[in-house]
Amino acid sequence: MRLVLMGPPGAGKGTQAAVLAARVGVPHISTGDIFRANVSENTPLGAEARRYMDAGEYVPDSVTNAMVRGRLGEADCGPGFILDGYPRTPEQVGELDSMLREAGRALEAVVAIEVGEGEIVARLLKRAADQNRSDDTEDVVRRRLEVYREQTAPLLAIYRQRGLLKTVDGIGATDEVTDRILAAIGR
Ligand code: AMP
Repeated sequence: MRLVLMGPPGAGKGTQAAVLAARVGVPHISTGDIFRANVSENTPLGAEARRYMDAGEYVPDSVTNAMVRGRLGEADCGPGFILDGYPRTPEQVGELDSMLREAGRALEAVVAIEVGEGEIVARLLKRAADQNRSDDTEDVVRRRLEVYREQTAPLLAIYRQRGLLKTVDGIGATDEVTDRILAAIGR
């Protein structure tokens, strides 16, 4: 399974990617999680990423692409992967294409989890309270949504044109959304 999960922050990509990865037995690769792990371990990558994350901006493509290239090159990604939060820019789409081409692989599908903006803001503010994430304050949440709309939402058209895009309603219980995703990709 080589799957990309897309959708605005708070759509449930992380939750669904974790469930699907455990069911299918492929790694869940969340660029946000890798950045956060680096921030908490105080690595140079973490210090670089944090400046952008705390402002709700994207970490530069050069940094993100190199990190993903390294991760997808690890042995556990041989049978597949579920990407959560990557690609997010046109340049990242191109870089992922190159990585897959070089490995002689292709994406199975890109699943967009759809949730309306009002619900998203409510979810993210709740998560801010629950998890104390420094990028879940209201101003940063709004900026992250804006950045998603401007830079990432247009990628859906690219994957739709390639015939890879499946859209799934992200409102409902975790299990219900998982079932919708599995049905959408024909599993
Ligand atoms: P997430 O947990 O996926 O919402 O990511 C949290 C933050 O990490 C984002 O707001 C960005 O600052 C950064 N980030 C995660 N993935 C990417 C990416 N593919 N490109 C650039 N920045 C990213």
